[in-house]
Amino acid sequence: MATLTDPLKAVIGDRTAEAFYKTFGMKTVEDLLRHYPRRYVARGELSDISELLEGDEVTVLAEISKVSVKRINGRTILEVEVTDGSAKMSLTFFNQIWREKELKVGKKGMFAGKVGMFKDKRQLSHPDYQLIPDGDDVDSAVGEFAGKYLPVYPAGGKLPSWKIANSISIILDSLDDIPDYLPEEVITEFGYPNLKDALFNIHEPESPEAAELAKTRLTFDEAILLQLVLAQRKAELKALAATPRKISTNGLVSNFEAKLPFKFTEGQREINSQIEGDMQEPHPMHRLLQGEVGSGKTVIALRAMLSVIESGGQAALLAPTEVLAQQHFKTITKMLGELALAGTLQGSGEGTQVALLTGSMSTAAKKEALGQIANGLAGIVIGTHALLSEGVEFADLALVVVDEQHRFGVEQRDALRMKAKLPPHLLVMTATPIPRTVAMTIFGDLDISTLRQLPSGRSPITTHVIPVLAKPHYLDRAWERVREEVAKGHQAYIVAPRIVAPERDETKVKITEKEIAFAKLMGDEISAEEFAGEGDMASVEELAPELATGALKGLKLAPLHGRQSAELKDETMAAFASGQIDVLVSTTVIEVGVDVPNATMMVIMDADRFGVSQLHQLRGRVGRGSAPGLCLLVSGASEDSPAMARLTAVAGTLDGFELSRIDLDQRREGDVLGKAQSGTKSHLRLLRVLRDEELIESARTVATKLISKDPTLASFPNLANEVSLLKAEESSDFLDKG
Ligand code: ADP
Ligand code: MG
Repeated sequence: MATLTDPLKAVIGDRTAEAFYKTFGMKTVEDLLRHYPRRYVARGELSDISELLEGDEVTVLAEISKVSVKRINGRTILEVEVTDGSAKMSLTFFNQIWREKELKVGKKGMFAGKVGMFKDKRQLSHPDYQLIPDGDDVDSAVGEFAGKYLPVYPAGGKLPSWKIANSISIILDSLDDIPDYLPEEVITEFGYPNLKDALFNIHEPESPEAAELAKTRLTFDEAILLQLVLAQRKAELKALAATPRKISTNGLVSNFEAKLPFKFTEGQREINSQIEGDMQEPHPMHRLLQGEVGSGKTVIALRAMLSVIESGGQAALLAPTEVLAQQHFKTITKMLGELALAGTLQGSGEGTQVALLTGSMSTAAKKEALGQIANGLAGIVIGTHALLSEGVEFADLALVVVDEQHRFGVEQRDALRMKAKLPPHLLVMTATPIPRTVAMTIFGDLDISTLRQLPSGRSPITTHVIPVLAKPHYLDRAWERVREEVAKGHQAYIVAPRIVAPERDETKVKITEKEIAFAKLMGDEISAEEFAGEGDMASVEELAPELATGALKGLKLAPLHGRQSAELKDETMAAFASGQIDVLVSTTVIEVGVDVPNATMMVIMDADRFGVSQLHQLRGRVGRGSAPGLCLLVSGASEDSPAMARLTAVAGTLDGFELSRIDLDQRREGDVLGKAQSGTKSHLRLLRVLRDEELIESARTVATKLISKDPTLASFPNLANEVSLLKAEESSDFLDKG
């Protein structure tokens, strides 16, 4: 009898096992049993070809009557004609010439797919199929299938769906009893089948209901294992010792609040007290603060930083880019006013100093900052990754604030945390709104605070799409609008996806928009500006002079992009902030954090090149003052393209959560959850974070309960084993978000 850990070849023979290894990398019985069907074909649902309508999802039983191969532009097209007696239809396969070997004239099989029409002929392109083995006549083969639901597997190489089904069938027939890792009470509570039944029913279901229930149970397994890892990790973090930081009644924080030109919103107050509560604990805070651009996260972080200074500690604020670090430095020093001038003549008696440390600073300036950081005079230290380098020593690092989590590697954050005596409190800020279950899955070991409300006095942003293909004259009108805005004393951003034009761009790498969005979400250092697909996308270095001498002649324009020196970028930003520049022509370097309230308009060129969330972030740069904001999305995408639909969606709502949903919906699960998690990916076969919200919620509840009663799962050894397998497989990148 076979067990889950047996090598495949012991059960299905060397040759077949080899094929499974080569095609899918499978080694064990469990590997193959976890290869779940994509769907099922019901015997009773066979359709007549003559009755098929375009768009129908169908399965037909038919015989191959003709096979031909065409070559077009180096691509092979295998065209297979089948007939069921009532009519003929064709099946087409692109670049899958190897199928010619099994799709032979005279062969019968079931073919499933969506009906398309091509030259008035019905066709299925890339259908799933199951051929009826040689020697079996159709009736007996079909008779054997009768009443059954045939699994359709993701196929590959030399392993068509039916071959996979055969091997799985052999395994199921010889499968020993397998221990279930889910606790009995959980199985009972949800009315799930046990593990063995679930594996049987997902592969060879007696009914659609049985298949569905098996699938639910196996999906739940994936969710709960992940949640257990996260819950355990959270419990471990909670068990660490940290210095509690208490706020006094009339210290720096109250002083700061008294000076603020506005009142905290209700949402901000609530989060302030959550943070205050966390940091009073003798364990480190691990909190994610998410909120729209401009929702007031930075002020919350600043208040948290001041609160640790009251008890002699220091706070570090990590920014993803130099521009942002400088921007933070300026806003924070400004907000603090004389509170940031401790130890100087102008300073008030109590207060602190704010130090900036970035890579491009002069050696002398760096040295001064390092001194302030080491002797503790600088209560707030703002910087880029330069903060992580070895020479940086803190007197007493109490709180680490990470801005824009997605861009900051876990190792980098850990390096900074190592600089503290005891683990510091951690606050992670992100402006990318994450749907609740995604957050639960990605950041399950962080506590989450969400700012939903924008501070009052914020102006609305109107967004329009400019389809330059259909309505080229709209673009002229857009430039006119820029002029009008500037005439009213306001400023504008023009965003382009590239720095330079393609021919001159030596670093050009072909990469799709999806890859960029994905890489960004996952914290890669790359940005759309470094990469671009083919085609003639707008570039900053072409657009700026073109507009300056053309449509925007007479206005003060300046280019800004990531390849300029830090000084030049800084100079340009400063000039824009103080109103000396009317129009900033830039790449996405302005995406996060930049705050110029007088900027009221943004034109995004080739907007279809950007992800949904990214567009939303970008337009958050306007409408930050008292005047309403206007954002124009210029695109050459055709009217009925998916790209245009995305842009219309962005124009249609300002709800960041809704938009991030649209964004995530379009990606594969691996993309949603990250690339670093090869382990998790192989564990997440069925779970879909957006679709399976309820399941994830209940898995989380169960996991939290289990871990709080029994942190090491000592009373559930099978479950503990499964969890440690997942942990071991997990590249630490993914789950080590804390
Ligand atoms: P975020 O960091 O979330 O993008 P910020 O903290 O930078 O947002 O706030 C954006 C702007 O709104 C800043 O100019 C800030 O001073 C202002 N602001 C923050 N909180 C409030 C509030 N409660 N009322 C009015 N203005 C606020
Ligand atoms: Mg901010």
